[in-house]
Amino acid sequence: MIEDKNQQRTDLGQIGEFGLIDHLAKNFEIKQSSTIKGIGDDAAVLDFKGDKVVVSTDFLVEGVHFDLSYMPLKHLGYKSVMVNLSDIYAMNAQASQVTVSIAVSNRFPLEAIEELYAGIQTACNIYDVDLVGGDTTSSTSGLVISVTAIGHVDKDNEVYRSGAKPNDLLVVTGDLGAAYLGLQVLEREKEVFKVNPQNQPDLDQYTYLVERQLKPEARKDIVKLLKDLDVKPTSMIDISDGLSSEILHICKNSDVGCDLYETKIPLDPQVISTCEEFNIDSTTIALNGGEDYELLMTISQEDFPKIKANPNLTVIGYITEKNAGAHLVTRADQKIELQAQGWKSFKSTED
Ligand code: ADP
Ligand code: MG
Repeated sequence: MIEDKNQQRTDLGQIGEFGLIDHLAKNFEIKQSSTIKGIGDDAAVLDFKGDKVVVSTDFLVEGVHFDLSYMPLKHLGYKSVMVNLSDIYAMNAQASQVTVSIAVSNRFPLEAIEELYAGIQTACNIYDVDLVGGDTTSSTSGLVISVTAIGHVDKDNEVYRSGAKPNDLLVVTGDLGAAYLGLQVLEREKEVFKVNPQNQPDLDQYTYLVERQLKPEARKDIVKLLKDLDVKPTSMIDISDGLSSEILHICKNSDVGCDLYETKIPLDPQVISTCEEFNIDSTTIALNGGEDYELLMTISQEDFPKIKANPNLTVIGYITEKNAGAHLVTRADQKIELQAQGWKSFKSTED
């Protein structure tokens, strides 16, 4: 974890809104040739030379989507960009610009906002996207961040949720459930800390889980991989709310059913051991835990030879006719209807 070592506290009121924008924006360089005009005018100007443009936006609200008692601001900045880039990659598009809007109360000093923007900048550098604008306003309570990501896709390469066909393979990237477990570990440590602040958290055996929660990575590499393999998925979605909920989105939008095999769901060894320790079922975590930011896609059977040897892609089931329904085939070879429990920010138990 990156700690905020900066002890200085410059009052935001002291530098004013425009001073703050200038201060935050000055470190960002333009990298994309599609960015004609970035920060500093009434609007950004972009030129995609005939490519289709994809746009996606998300809110992150303190107390609903993040808890600053264990989320360092630098990580929050990074994650707020990732969450949005993930949506662009889920369209099989390349991300090229973001705008970042913040509503911030005066309980945050300038140094805190600098930390947030340091994380945003790291994300922009690693993922090669330009920060081209945003808005800055005050808030009476917590911190609110809204990121809009802009991307582009050439020819007819965009992939929707709606193209899955019966017999297509259901394929997932990476592994699932770790981010949710990371949150459980952090919540547990927070409770321990409340009781005894002397207690330093021991997170050694949960490093992967905590990293997946605090520093998720969007799968830019997969868009490139699919291009290199010459595979265009028939449908795709990013996994922000849990596998179950995302599969059902594809089924609904594509008018199909599916069989998902429990034994095929990719899990990291730390997910398996921590589920044993917490006495929870790893399949439930993979199906319903959120924030993995992996990609779920369907691929035509004829493309199977192209993907079968790839360690990034796991076939977890296949698409069926709509009237067959959406099912999980368990280890015991039983068929259970898939339910979207998901990761709903409006669920009262979740906040
Ligand atoms: P306006 O009054 O038109 O909303 P602003 O003064 O809010 O203009 O913004 C001036 C410039 O700074 C614009 O390019 C805007 O996109 C950018 N900007 C404002 N706030 C932020 C922010 N938090 N992060 C990045 N860019 C910002
Ligand atoms: Mg403004």
